[in-house]
Amino acid sequence: MTTESDDDVLATAYHEAGHAIVAILLGRPVEKVSVVRNSMRLGVCQMSKRKGAPIQDEVETLALIHFAGLISEAKLTGKHNWGGAQQDLIQIRQLARYRGSSEKQVERLQRRWMDKTEYLLSDDQTWIMVERLAKELVERKTVSGRFVVHLVEQLSPD
Ligand SMILES: [Zn+2]
Repeated sequence: MTTESDDDVLATAYHEAGHAIVAILLGRPVEKVSVVRNSMRLGVCQMSKRKGAPIQDEVETLALIHFAGLISEAKLTGKHNWGGAQQDLIQIRQLARYRGSSEKQVERLQRRWMDKTEYLLSDDQTWIMVERLAKELVERKTVSGRFVVHLVEQLSPD
């Protein structure tokens, strides 16, 4: 078994915090967020089944949530960890294929979703939420979705 460095844990915390904060802000409930590692993954942001009215653009919402991990991590480390986000990227590609008919359209759609996610996370308020949650994840390892909602509410301007 390999030991992971503090840097790895921090990068994973930013990755999962990015998923969770963007999910909550886009109206998707989160079950739990964790940086506990297993053989399959470094961390997880587990979403719950959505209740209530359908979201306007479900496909795009999911794509943005998937991209948020890669982009949050990159904002911390200064580089995109494409390998670590492989599962997310597979999901994004599938979502893009629902929408785009040609390969060119699929590529363009993915780029647009990535830009949109970068824009979302460039908001100071949102980024403070990601940083706070990442810090909590490093300390507690796992937090509930309820905890994330509380944090978002606390840090939202009223
Ligand atoms: Zn991810």
